[in-house]
Amino acid sequence: MSDFKYSFDGSACASCGGKCCTGESGYIFCSIAELQKICEFLKISFNEFTQKYVKKVGYNFSLIEKRYLDGYACIFFDTETKKCGIYDVRPNQCKTFPFWDIYKNEENFQELLQQCIGIKVDKKYS
Ligand code: SF4
Repeated sequence: MSDFKYSFDGSACASCGGKCCTGESGYIFCSIAELQKICEFLKISFNEFTQKYVKKVGYNFSLIEKRYLDGYACIFFDTETKKCGIYDVRPNQCKTFPFWDIYKNEENFQELLQQCIGIKVDKKYS
């Protein structure tokens, strides 16, 4: 993750309340292989799983969202525990957060800083 000017302290997630899984509407993109993994984890048929939890976005697939507070949450965000309900099989998009190329853009990075308390800016940049 050396191209990024920050590191990430995952222990901050315990007190965050899941801001990266909630808020404004967005997409949680999944490959077919990732969808299959989640489906196996949930022990339901692929057909039922895709009908209930997946939407097509152009040629891609995203998990759907649900209303939460004054915005949205990923359908698999557990609003009681404030944790991912499919953590072990969450898609790569979630696993790689907050090391996304869009955060190399300064404006996006400033938004990330507001959102994620786990971001630790490297000393040479702060
Ligand atoms: S799959 Fe899990 S980690 Fe990813 S957005 Fe949904 S609740 Fe969050």
